Amino acid sequence: MALRQYQLPAGRALFVNAGGSFFLASRAACMRLYNSALLDADHDFLHLHGHVLEPGDKLGHVARAYAEAQRAAVSRQLDYLILVPTLRCDLSCSYCQVSRVAATQPGYDWSEDTAEAVLHLLDTLATSQIKIEFQGGEPTLRPDLVRRVIERCARFDQREFVICTNLQRLDDDILALLDHPDVFISTSLDGSPDVHSRNRTGSAQATDRFFDNLATVVARYGPKKIAALPTIDPAAPPDIDALIDSYNRHGLESIFLRPINYQGFARKRHRDAREQGDDWRAYYERFVRRLIARNWQDRSRVLEEAYLSIALRRIFRPGTERHVDLRSPNPLGIDYIVVDHDGVVYPTDEARMLARAGVIDLAIGTVAAGWDSPARDLLNKHSSNSDDPACQTCAFQPFCGRDLVDDIARYGRIDLPRHETEFCRRHTHLFSFIFRLLYEEDEAVRYSLARWLRLPGTLAPAMDYLA
Ligand code: SF4
Repeated sequence: MALRQYQLPAGRALFVNAGGSFFLASRAACMRLYNSALLDADHDFLHLHGHVLEPGDKLGHVARAYAEAQRAAVSRQLDYLILVPTLRCDLSCSYCQVSRVAATQPGYDWSEDTAEAVLHLLDTLATSQIKIEFQGGEPTLRPDLVRRVIERCARFDQREFVICTNLQRLDDDILALLDHPDVFISTSLDGSPDVHSRNRTGSAQATDRFFDNLATVVARYGPKKIAALPTIDPAAPPDIDALIDSYNRHGLESIFLRPINYQGFARKRHRDAREQGDDWRAYYERFVRRLIARNWQDRSRVLEEAYLSIALRRIFRPGTERHVDLRSPNPLGIDYIVVDHDGVVYPTDEARMLARAGVIDLAIGTVAAGWDSPARDLLNKHSSNSDDPACQTCAFQPFCGRDLVDDIARYGRIDLPRHETEFCRRHTHLFSFIFRLLYEEDEAVRYSLARWLRLPGTLAPAMDYLA
């Protein structure tokens, strides 16, 4: 029986096997497990739920191996590209992660050679489905390049394009792009106009323009085509209800509660963003509990914290969640890449930001010459949490991920003991919070958890529990 455990309040403990099956044990059951003094009923429970397998139980062993393999499976085919047609931007947010350049500065857009190399790459991909995210800078400053890429993708059976925009410009050219049914909008909404103006736009005029354009796209396309996310300064987080209201007002139901990312400009202007403390984690829990309460009060709509929903699906729906910041193994430069404004290829957007900030050059190649490089191979030697001694004993390892670039960004190295990293502290907190919620006997909590898992019904009142 290879079970890892995590201590929860009231003497109870969570036990998890390598395939991600888990149960909660009462204080008394914990004592029996620790002292190898199991009752017959305990043996029955452990057998029934697949935590103990008899040597001759071939089906049980195959099922366990399948569960582990399913959690470790990742696509080996390139089908997700982050493209940066320009690094220019018409705003200068205090925590811009990408160190953009001024909108009028020449030399920071794709050259014709780079554009052709990107289009040629699209022609050679073996996949039948493609996802492309246009990042910047502000990609709507070059709608012509965005259009060329979208048109070149007509041959794929499934296409999804996300334009990450500050919504400062919304002319006929851009609306024609957004009208495309496969195109989605991602923007930033930090809360009320006051907060948004302070953090991002810096002028009343630009703030008004943003909110007018947000209202226009919501009215034209409906909220399902638009994702917005706030960036929170943990030193001065906004009022929780005011933040939720600002999303509700536009019909937006998914809120990705991100503290300032320790990248790009933010490294200089928000130095304390390297680590998040207990105050941030307490704020995060209050925020999620407020969503739960509001979902229960008004069941006509469901609000979610996007990252918590992703983590929930990592627990219950292995293989269906492809969020590249939370997976293990997390191979770099294989199934997704970033093509920068100069044609340089990075393994992640954060790696691009580190290069721009002059911290470390994690480029793995160029779109013209390829990126099957020693740099990529070196990074991929460390892309799995199952090789890490701390993760190997962690109850959350089957659900958790590995983010080398985050470690390099914060500490300049990847070999710190895992528990000393912000990535680990964040995810230990997140998963322990989720498991506390899962075992709460509160209808409102169960209602939201089921919605966030995209289930029509409700979760069973008591999940696997050894009394
Ligand atoms: S990073 Fe931390 S929380 Fe995640 S599996 Fe490793 S030890 Fe566990």
